[in-house]
Amino acid sequence: MSSRSTSRPFSHPLRFLPLVGLLLGCAISPPAAAQPCGAQGVALQVLGSGGPELQDKRASSSYLVWDNGRARVLVDAGGGSALRFGESGATMSQLDVLLFTHFHVDHSGDFAALIKSSWFEDRKRPLPIYGPPGNDFMPSTTEFVGDFFGEKHGAYRYLSELLAPGEKGSYKMQPHVVTPGPTPIPVLRSGNLSASAVRVVHGDVPALAWRIEDGGKVIVFSGDTDGEGDGLVRLAANADLFVAHNAVPEGATGVERHLHMPPSVIGQIAEGAKVKRLVLSHRMLRTLGKEDQTQSEIAKRYSGPVAFANDLDCFPMK
Ligand SMILES: [Zn+2]
Repeated sequence: MSSRSTSRPFSHPLRFLPLVGLLLGCAISPPAAAQPCGAQGVALQVLGSGGPELQDKRASSSYLVWDNGRARVLVDAGGGSALRFGESGATMSQLDVLLFTHFHVDHSGDFAALIKSSWFEDRKRPLPIYGPPGNDFMPSTTEFVGDFFGEKHGAYRYLSELLAPGEKGSYKMQPHVVTPGPTPIPVLRSGNLSASAVRVVHGDVPALAWRIEDGGKVIVFSGDTDGEGDGLVRLAANADLFVAHNAVPEGATGVERHLHMPPSVIGQIAEGAKVKRLVLSHRMLRTLGKEDQTQSEIAKRYSGPVAFANDLDCFPMK
């Protein structure tokens, strides 16, 4: 996959080991252990760079924020992301918080797998989980977690000890509903980590964009949105890194455009917010292969560096 990037991320070194081994043969000793993402300072790691279609051969939406070797924040947990989470070297015990943008399957499908894995880690402190409210056809964040792990009706109620207050789990999930309007609001602060959110328009699905500040670095996640309104521009103001979803090509119409922002809108938001760096993710079959067109539409509006994300790419903050 060629992706024209004016800014190259550090690809995960382990991905190239088989090729290196093939080229160099077995006569030399293996390279030193790979540096994990975010071993020093703050870094974004893309766990899932794809959309819902499995034929894109990418995990669906999921991102980690690393801080000096510790995975502090997980944003979304789409299908395939639990495997990528393990490959990244992160553990569930490291996480300070799990944030959801919305509950479409490609943003939440591996949630239960991550929680089951955590059961083997003997995590000792609560795991706060923040996400959007519900409506008639989408669960709220507390309903979503309860639908999996609630003690009476949860699909995986055999693990209800990780949610139900009276039961003896090694830790408890603490789901919270975040209900911002079109203006960003602060959601949490813990030491040098804070997060704020704004409501974004994603069809009829309650959806949030997230701004994470860690150690003075700012990473903003658009989630899925058509880009309507100025809330996302305000949330992303002066961000060190803005992760936007490249789910539709320029010229998209109908339902696709109703749910997602085309490259021109991404460029407008990145420029309006004066973000320092743009990362394009949620790449789907309809946008893969159109990187040149996407890049040129964005470049008409935004002059900063742009990168197309692949699974496990690591973006250290300078
Ligand atoms: Zn969605």
